[in-house]
Amino acid sequence: MELGFIGLGIMGKPMCRNLLKAGYECVVYDLVSESVEELVKAGARGAKSAAEAAKEKEIVITMLPNSPQVRQVVLGENGIAAAMEPGSILIDMSSIAPLASQEIGAALAEKGVEMLDAPVSGGEPKAVDGTLSVMVGGKCEVYEKVKELLLCMGDSAVYCGGLGAGNTTKLSNQIVVAMNIAACAEAFTLAKKAGVDPELVYQAIRGGLAGSTVMDAKVPMMLEGNDRPGFKIDLHIKDLNNAVETGHALGMALPMTVQILEMLEQLHGDGLGQKDHSALVRYYEKITGVSVRR
Ligand code: NAD
Repeated sequence: MELGFIGLGIMGKPMCRNLLKAGYECVVYDLVSESVEELVKAGARGAKSAAEAAKEKEIVITMLPNSPQVRQVVLGENGIAAAMEPGSILIDMSSIAPLASQEIGAALAEKGVEMLDAPVSGGEPKAVDGTLSVMVGGKCEVYEKVKELLLCMGDSAVYCGGLGAGNTTKLSNQIVVAMNIAACAEAFTLAKKAGVDPELVYQAIRGGLAGSTVMDAKVPMMLEGNDRPGFKIDLHIKDLNNAVETGHALGMALPMTVQILEMLEQLHGDGLGQKDHSALVRYYEKITGVSVRR
């Protein structure tokens, strides 16, 4: 089967490579032509526009930064909505606002095009290994049709409910990840300030109740001073803003999320928006004068 794949960034590239390895033919597009070339070298066919990548495809996948980019690529001028045929399926794997998924899905439904929101968790390493966690919203029967394809990119896919439920699940995920990173940054900075080696603290606590996937992925980066993204601070700001907007629309305050959002905003203001979100430890470095780096 030939698929359209649009958005070849940190995540999209390895996800598309795994689809190629699984035998899918992919027509790919990104604003960055070097990224298209990389995938062409891996066996994909390059397109000159998103609409060209989507034309006559049963399934189109998008992996873009946020709601405005997905709206533009799908519904904007020369968008893929006009190129997709009734009965075809858009799987948007970007992490966007749940309300935006519902709006885009409603516009596509008018053309008879189905849509799933299927954001992922696991970051670049799991995108490379094909072991992402996929959380899916939309019609269950549409999900059943594409489940096998999703499992070429992930080792789990969970159907979470109607359109937007995938992104609501992802926002919950992003709150937990942000708080875990902030907790690690605060705790390891305290240890260093108190004269205890953060490396030993990590070894002592990682197997206990405080241990987590986030701790194992991000604390070694903090100790190495490695802030190569990974997951960029600016993307985490985007997710937490979407979480706060979603909460406010439901009449719910998110006091802890807002606190971490402010720390990340400060780092963005300090020019660190393109660094990995584990660079949140730099916020603590700034306010304490203490670095956890080895
Ligand atoms: P990225 O910034 O590396 O990639 C986004 C890509 O989209 C870029 O290559 C960009 O050129 C392309 N793009 C933007 N606008 C476009 C347009 N109009 N037409 C075509 N291409 C366009 O981001 P990423 O890290 O790959 O993340 C993509 C999505 O996945 C985001 O929603 C992010 O929150 C989510 N996500 C990222 C990670 C991670 O660890 N990086 C993990 C899980 C989920």
